[in-house]
Amino acid sequence: MLANPETISPMSAHVVLDGKAIAERMKCELREELAHLKGHPQLRILYFDTPASIVYKNAQVHVARDLGIWTDRTQTDGTYCFPWKTATQHDVEQLIQKWNRDRFVHGIFVHQPVPPQIDPQRISALIDPRKDVEGIHPDNSARRFFAKARIGSCTALAVMRLIEETGVPLEGKEAVVVGHSEIVGRPVSMLLLDKLATTTVCHLGTDKAGRLEEHVRRADVLVVAVGRPHLIKGSWIKPGAIVIDVGINVVHGHVVGDVEFDTAKARAAFISPVPGGVGPVTVMTVMRNTVEAFKGQQAESSGKRDG
Ligand code: NAD
Repeated sequence: MLANPETISPMSAHVVLDGKAIAERMKCELREELAHLKGHPQLRILYFDTPASIVYKNAQVHVARDLGIWTDRTQTDGTYCFPWKTATQHDVEQLIQKWNRDRFVHGIFVHQPVPPQIDPQRISALIDPRKDVEGIHPDNSARRFFAKARIGSCTALAVMRLIEETGVPLEGKEAVVVGHSEIVGRPVSMLLLDKLATTTVCHLGTDKAGRLEEHVRRADVLVVAVGRPHLIKGSWIKPGAIVIDVGINVVHGHVVGDVEFDTAKARAAFISPVPGGVGPVTVMTVMRNTVEAFKGQQAESSGKRDG
């Protein structure tokens, strides 16, 4: 198991799930797979000039370069930045359509959130579903609903990978997801349902009704994806719970999650840190999905040739 046992209590081991180590192992697996592929998967990333987006993009570029996922014909790093304030729907759509048409582009990733003047649902629906490495196209979302996803939400898959590392079976467990966004909360809740966890989804309405604490307190598995520093108090964590913190917040120049880490760790059996938990595994899942998209497109084109 790729986790750091820090302290052992009579009740449970308080294990910090090491996302960097899991990501390293995924990278080795991918490198092995890439060595046996004919051709190079090519990923394209559209992002906006916000600090969070730039940090995430840089992490993606670093890993993609390391894996050789886009040393392509153009020798660019495969990214395109739009200014947050002045990006237009037309320009963003033009670029996505260009990448859709380019047969040397196998994966397209559009950073979220998008600026208010951009309609995110139109963007999701525009990406070629075979190249949609974040699983946001309506076809891919529908497949996830029916538990038949080809390519799923990278963050949701990363959350599930961290939970898998605990070795705890999910069937019959009380799972609570805080946050119901299209790219994290909803897909995570569906993946938990697929594992037969009894799943509750909380959100802003739950908090406004004053009922967040009561739901969190009974969670065997807690996934938090809100974007509010220390929203979840350590004292709310059920002893022995699995806690996965997806939140990324910058407080006084430091990155922190949505969960009060130290007090939560003292009660949880397993907890993911921020940074170094979900983030690195998510980045590697983008690469994994790009390889899957590439293989799908290769199989499709060789099928066409054969047929
Ligand atoms: P979002 O803004 O789309 O959704 C936020 C969700 O939180 C909503 O469902 C909202 O109802 C809920 N919420 C807001 N205030 C709440 C409150 N007081 N109590 C309970 N619920 C509340 O956000 P998102 O895109 O899902 O991202 C959530 C967080 O996860 C952000 O911090 C983001 O940076 C981070 N994130 C991390 C990764 C990663 O790889 N580590 C990937 C994606 C997002």
